[in-house]
Amino acid sequence: MSTVRSTNPHDPKETVAEVPATSPDHLSALLELATHAGRDWAHTAAPDRATALNRVADDIGVETNRLADLISREVGKPITEARGEVQRAERTFRYFAQAALLPQGDVLPGADSRTLSFTRTRPRGVVGVITPWNFPLVIPAWKLAPALAYGNAVVFKPSAQAVGTAEALTDILNRHLLPGVVVFAAGPGTGALVAQSPAVNAVSFTGSTEVGRQVVATVSARGAVAQAEMGGQNPTVILADADVEAAITGITGSAFAFAGQKCTATSRIIVHEDIYERTREALVETARKLVLIDPSDPNCQVGPVIDISSRDSALAAVKSSSGRVLTGGTKPDIAGSYLEPTLVEVPGSDDLLATDEIFAPVTALLRARSAAHAVELANATPFGLSASLYTRDLSAALTHTRELKAGMLRVNAPTTGLDHWAPFGGTKASSFGSREQGLAAKEFYTESSTVAFC
Ligand code: NAD
Repeated sequence: MSTVRSTNPHDPKETVAEVPATSPDHLSALLELATHAGRDWAHTAAPDRATALNRVADDIGVETNRLADLISREVGKPITEARGEVQRAERTFRYFAQAALLPQGDVLPGADSRTLSFTRTRPRGVVGVITPWNFPLVIPAWKLAPALAYGNAVVFKPSAQAVGTAEALTDILNRHLLPGVVVFAAGPGTGALVAQSPAVNAVSFTGSTEVGRQVVATVSARGAVAQAEMGGQNPTVILADADVEAAITGITGSAFAFAGQKCTATSRIIVHEDIYERTREALVETARKLVLIDPSDPNCQVGPVIDISSRDSALAAVKSSSGRVLTGGTKPDIAGSYLEPTLVEVPGSDDLLATDEIFAPVTALLRARSAAHAVELANATPFGLSASLYTRDLSAALTHTRELKAGMLRVNAPTTGLDHWAPFGGTKASSFGSREQGLAAKEFYTESSTVAFC
């Protein structure tokens, strides 16, 4: 029997989890089961769906330490951040338990005094949830929780590199849901089969832009609904009047914590020339102090890259850059797929460290002649997920947040750090379809009918 295995990036010899790979025939059987179970779940009263989701949240809360340890070992996330991820997953299930009880439509004026006109939503049916490895608990949570709250069944296809965390979440869900409401599928080619299957009415994808675009094309071509959150190349702009100290603390965490592997991590730092030299020196000094050790140690700030090949591609990108390495750019003398936090001063916005998603602790530093030039540099990338701006000038903040092309904009805060109750998503090559999280999630997980009683 073929299996899917995840390993520990800190110690690649350690197998963290191993699960059976789902064969195409088994996937068909699982989808049939989900289709039947989904009909019952759609008819389950909203308060009962809410109770089930609250019980899932309770179990996640009780099992915080086990889940955080699993996340940390499986994807190399610093343990303190892994605990934060578990807490956010718990809160996400509670949020959508409540959302299940909110009004599901609008009453509209009738065409005449006898007509009752209203909108009503219904679940889409079976939803495919395809997820990446970097937030192995909370990204599945922010898709599964609304899918289930609004009455859908789910086929959950996680990343091979995070199957252990995904299996643990599925086990918790199955304690509180009817059998088949959530089915788990893993293995090579399974994501593509989920995207192709006519039994799957909608697919919510998070991962790389390359794969996301394939998924969107496949799902849309058969007339089903797709949503994709994809790569980023997120800029932070520091204007001349900014609180530079606050900016540096925020940026170094955002660029290098969890080895730069958040989709919203800061990948470019764009600094106004009036404060450029002193900001550059302070960034280098702060990056050099970051603690790069075993992610299970509570003092860890950076941790390893997900695997050796991703670490080596990041190193190759640094070597191919025409920029000047200010700090890092080397492997530390420890086992595992580590890379020193790396800051590279690049000559312009066409350098590959300023255009491509590197997904490692590698950040490009650029000099801007003016605030307008900084915004122009920030927008000079195919991506548009998150952007941040440091300034004390309210008027500049309002103007530039209108001009910056990103789905998520943060002023005097780093590009990372988002709220589960706020709509989430990007623009340009970072995103396709409706927003995730918050009440915005309802649009994807339901379809609406307009009813007129004449
Ligand atoms: P990935 O694209 O390699 O894989 C994502 C998922 O898609 C995995 O489950 C994978 O098995 C599956 N998959 C692979 N090929 C497929 C195919 N042909 N059809 C269907 N599914 C397929 O991404 P990854 O390496 O797991 O994650 C890192 C990427 O995710 C980065 O680009 C990062 O920016 C992005 N990401 C984006 C967000 C966001 O919200 N925008 C959040 C987290 C991660």
